[in-house]
Amino acid sequence: MYDIIIIGGGPAGLTASIYALRAKKSVLLIERYAPGGQVAQTGKIENYPGFKSIDGLELSNLMFEQASDLGLETIYTDVIKYDLLGKVKKVETYDGTFECKAVVLALGAVARQLDVENEKKFIGKGISYCATCDGNFFKDKNVAVVGGGNTSFEDCLYLADIVSKIYLIHRRDEFRGDKHTLLKLKEFEKVGKIEFVLNSVVKALNGEDKLISVVVENKIDKTLREIPVDGLFVAIGRRPDTSLIQDIITLDENGYIITDENMRTNIDGVYAVGDVRQKRLRQIVTACSDGAISAVDIIDYISKTFWG
Ligand code: NAP
Repeated sequence: MYDIIIIGGGPAGLTASIYALRAKKSVLLIERYAPGGQVAQTGKIENYPGFKSIDGLELSNLMFEQASDLGLETIYTDVIKYDLLGKVKKVETYDGTFECKAVVLALGAVARQLDVENEKKFIGKGISYCATCDGNFFKDKNVAVVGGGNTSFEDCLYLADIVSKIYLIHRRDEFRGDKHTLLKLKEFEKVGKIEFVLNSVVKALNGEDKLISVVVENKIDKTLREIPVDGLFVAIGRRPDTSLIQDIITLDENGYIITDENMRTNIDGVYAVGDVRQKRLRQIVTACSDGAISAVDIIDYISKTFWG
């Protein structure tokens, strides 16, 4: 039996593991794809203290290496079922069932979809939810990015070095993304690299075997415009993936896990950290902070519950 099983290898889960491993706890990390979570798919990160600018994948690799050097065990698989109510917790995966004394849910969040007809059909055939993963497929092509937050901004900056032209489609004329980054995008607008398509929503996705154009509707004058593109990067935020635990863990109305300030959920020995938690600021630093806080509380919890 492990002391702690952490589900999700983003900064929150990895930081929890580093703190727990340094306190000599045994830790199993269960990760679906690759360590790093959303950060591994982020281009440049310029707001993580200690690094003026660092590539997301590089930062993820550094965190994972640090945890692995401390003795982190990792398996790459999907969780099928949780049995969390007893003192000993069980996590069933495609690679077997694992037991532990405490569970950390570092589940992150998954990309929201546009919910426009044909969207699913064109995934991998023009539509992507990760510019850093798929941007290179669109070298010297025209692409569109949908969204108005920091992710859409970073996608544009990343793609600007690769593609021919970017149409940034946003449903309002004000952005959520940082002003500082917006200024960089405006520089690209001046040279025709980026065109802002504002107050506009995607209405249709055209093509046979692959995407060839998007139709956007201007929300103010209701005019339609067809924009020929080979790629569409959807960056309209994320939603928590809490469906497997929704019957036992207390969630807010948007599906985020509610915790106390020590990252405890409503179930003893079950913690939630990072983007899956209900909170205001979802950043790498706040994810790391959640991870550290949870580990310290878990160390206390284990000593009281299993030896106290
Ligand atoms: P976000 O900040 O929630 O922005 C989502 C954007 O998509 C919003 O502009 C929203 O429009 C738009 N949108 C939502 N649903 C839509 C729909 N159905 N159709 C069209 N547009 C839609 O999400 P995010 O950009 O993924 O960022 C998430 C968090 O991560 C934020 O806190 C962000 O600051 C952070 N982040 C930070 C960094 C960094 O600091 N390096 C990088 C990436 C992300 P409205 O504005 O009209 O609601």
